Amino acid sequence: MAERRLNSLRVIRMFLYVTSPSGRGLHVTGRRLLKPEACNLKNIWVKITVVKRTILIHYHEINLKGNNRGWFEARLHQHIISLLKDLPYDSVQRYAGRLLIGLLPESPVEEITRRLKMVFGVANLAVAWEVPAEIEALQSGLAELIPITHFQSFKIDARRGTKDFPLDSQQLNQHLGAFVQSLSKARVQLENPDATFFVEIVGSRAFLYLSRIPGGGGLPSGTGGKALCLLSGGIDSPVAAYRMMRRGCRVLYIHFHSFPHTTVESQEKVRRILRILSRFQLESQLTLVPFAEVQREIVAYAPPPLRVILYRRFMIRIAQAVAQNEKASALVTGDSLGQVASQTLENIRTISAAATLPIFRPLIGDDKEEIMRVAREIETYEISIQADQDCCSLFVPRHPETMSSIDQAERAEVELDVNRLIQSALAESTRETIASDFSSYKTAAKTYEQSQT
Ligand code: ATP
Ligand code: MG
Repeated sequence: MAERRLNSLRVIRMFLYVTSPSGRGLHVTGRRLLKPEACNLKNIWVKITVVKRTILIHYHEINLKGNNRGWFEARLHQHIISLLKDLPYDSVQRYAGRLLIGLLPESPVEEITRRLKMVFGVANLAVAWEVPAEIEALQSGLAELIPITHFQSFKIDARRGTKDFPLDSQQLNQHLGAFVQSLSKARVQLENPDATFFVEIVGSRAFLYLSRIPGGGGLPSGTGGKALCLLSGGIDSPVAAYRMMRRGCRVLYIHFHSFPHTTVESQEKVRRILRILSRFQLESQLTLVPFAEVQREIVAYAPPPLRVILYRRFMIRIAQAVAQNEKASALVTGDSLGQVASQTLENIRTISAAATLPIFRPLIGDDKEEIMRVAREIETYEISIQADQDCCSLFVPRHPETMSSIDQAERAEVELDVNRLIQSALAESTRETIASDFSSYKTAAKTYEQSQT
């Protein structure tokens, strides 16, 4: 009906950015028709469409959740607010199974999207032009997008999140396709077009965008309980931690070092890795444990082939004590089956027997190539490959046992004062909190306007 009335009028579209004195974008209230007298123009009707910039976030697995879905959404919402706290934006809002980030003219869109790409629980995001869900407004929005896109062929990909819009998706595709064609003179091409104009209508709001950026997937940070990861500074354990965080786990970290037998390098390396890993959960708690005394006792009293297995059993025991203290429900390691002598099935069993908490090994079935690919993707690889002296590189036996038994390890430990060694390592341990580092991105941060030029 509104459309018919409009067609009988002469309409000039004005594309306006409206900003209130507070700097907040005005909310769209729908179409406003100004009478000619009102705007001092003769015989001309002026239609004002407010086109807002909004980042539209689609959920990943949250959509499969039942009654507790609201709780997952709320955690994601809260995480995004904390993630963007140092950046200018207008609002973060939950809307019809989506999250919307209202942008300001000064919002650094590139930086915001870079951070959002790493957020777990997000399937994808789009930097959208938001208009009221009305056909003329959709055209106004498309007319904004066309000049910033180079294309000879295109298609419209229209979806209705709610079915109350008068045209169905197919009719929208046809109608808006004809509109874009008339403005751009480009041809419609459904397979591999140069540009796809996504049109998403949700209730009274519509979002227009040119691409969807993949998000972090998985489940929102902090929805999957707490686990303590044994972080060595190598390639594998940061990837193992990432995998657990992606399932919603809040991961705490423990690192064993042999200072002063080794340099402080391994501790600094772990801190650098954690600045990167904290991008996913904003900050991480690290417990640093001196391990030299445990190693000295093992070297002095235990059979050399069992050394590394016994190191690991002590690490697991100490980690379990820290985990219980921190109310973490599980341990995480970067073991991958058969990668080194300590990671045969028999040795993994011997090592696991030292603890009662579950030990998760998310990389157990991955090969090194796959682990390295993820390490590069999450940006820990370059730090991990830098040379350092891991505590376990000290006193490594020439012929390590690959087929140990629990019984064999327990007999070797009879010679050691296990409890005293654990208590003294715990007493000497220190704890720190490491914040996320987005600074490597900071220089590239641009506002949306800048990124368009
Ligand atoms: P990574 O690449 O993580 O160092 P790796 O291939 O070197 O793994 P190992 O050195 O055998 O494998 O260690 C197996 C796992 O034991 C590591 O992934 C880590 O979880 C744990 N670990 C080893 N050394 C340490 C350490 N110094 N501090 C904390 N955890 C450790
Ligand atoms: Mg290692």
